[in-house]
Amino acid sequence: MNTAYVALGANLGKPLDQLNQAITLVNKLSDTTVVAAASIYQSVAIGPGEQPDYLNSAAQIVTELNPSELLAALHAIEDALGRVRTVHWGERTLDLDLLLYENYISTAPILTVPHPRMNGRNFVIYPLLEIAPTLVLPNGESIKTVAQKLVNKGIQRKNSFNPQRMQWIN
Ligand code: ADP
Ligand code: MG
Repeated sequence: MNTAYVALGANLGKPLDQLNQAITLVNKLSDTTVVAAASIYQSVAIGPGEQPDYLNSAAQIVTELNPSELLAALHAIEDALGRVRTVHWGERTLDLDLLLYENYISTAPILTVPHPRMNGRNFVIYPLLEIAPTLVLPNGESIKTVAQKLVNKGIQRKNSFNPQRMQWIN
């Protein structure tokens, strides 16, 4: 079994509903189990134009899927939940990113792991820190050190996760 971390984000439609549907579908992927999920964090959107706030979280999973199979499966869940890809970094109904997969490193544009922009994003690192406070990244840096470099601004911790129900509490 391989441990991986997935980021979840949504800012269109009903973001909390989409995240709840997404975590259920991730847990149902073949040979894959959600071990833990962080609270929901509400954050001010970055990227082009005026956009609604995002809801973000992160999940720890164990999986027998390899990194490319896992990313393809995550994209299929995005599509199933109606994500419409318009502008890059634009608003979306659901964004699922593969953050980390064991100590695997890939620089291919189609599958970059660790996720190339995770270290600069408080809405990715804070939820990750919550579920994996002792995590060490493949480059040897601890998640705590990465978090300390971030500014705690534009982000609020919201709904906590109920692991029995596999849902965030409304
Ligand atoms: P972003 O999440 O950075 O806002 P997108 O979700 O639109 O952007 O993803 C753009 C592309 O990034 C996808 O087509 C995907 O193949 C690629 N990609 C590369 N590495 C990853 C990764 N680790 N997680 C998610 N997508 C990735
Ligand atoms: Mg993405």
